[in-house]
Amino acid sequence: MRLMKRRNFVIHTPEEIVRIREAARVTALAREEIAALAHPGMTTLELDELAGAVIRATGGTPTFLNYNGFPRNICISVNDVVVHGIASEKCVLKDGDLVSVDVGVTLNGGIGDTAKTVLVGNKPTTKDIERLLAGTQEALEAGIAAAHPGGHVGDISRAVAEVANRYKLGIVRDLVGHGCGTRLHEPPEVPNFVSTSEGPILAPGMVLCIEPMLNLGTARVYVENDNWTVRTADGLPSAHFEHMILITETHTEVLTRV
Ligand code: MG
Repeated sequence: MRLMKRRNFVIHTPEEIVRIREAARVTALAREEIAALAHPGMTTLELDELAGAVIRATGGTPTFLNYNGFPRNICISVNDVVVHGIASEKCVLKDGDLVSVDVGVTLNGGIGDTAKTVLVGNKPTTKDIERLLAGTQEALEAGIAAAHPGGHVGDISRAVAEVANRYKLGIVRDLVGHGCGTRLHEPPEVPNFVSTSEGPILAPGMVLCIEPMLNLGTARVYVENDNWTVRTADGLPSAHFEHMILITETHTEVLTRV
């Protein structure tokens, strides 16, 4: 999501958490199904239409459709597109493309938001792309592992950044993870970099989307004239993985694991 200026957070009620947990569960299943549908020769618009059908089959609706005017069911971001890619009939997937699918489902008042990046086709990939994918996934897992009730949001950020730096990947700073649950984007921000603020304390009932967006080259990105598509400044590929977590009294639950 785009950087917010507010500095607060949302604690969800047990009744809300029941709905959020179920929405997140079906979103994770949809993410896997949609990612498996991506193949060379299809357009991203075709993939988006299939994604819409997958989402509606859960009984839910695509959260991103019409969100602040977003025109598609999901975000499909290919190669140097970091996030918020708009599916198009002009974009034909090729063997070896790196495709991020970011899926949101609204179900019975709960919202799920999760993403993964996959290689399309079976062309052998490069060491650099392997490093990008492995580093971004490991960064997400490190962020999850660093989230403990009583800790701070900054613990997550530090863990993600440590892995990204170790893999020598560029950390996108213009976009951050976020609270989620009954609205798509809720406070607090969950940066993928260490900032001067530790952020709020991780308290029971908080639901957070941790979503490292890491680049093979420069961290710098720009937004296209469509006001959505975020691309790397140097044209090198980017990866994006996102899970939703719930902080409970005793531990951290990953809501979008399949
Ligand atoms: Mg998100």
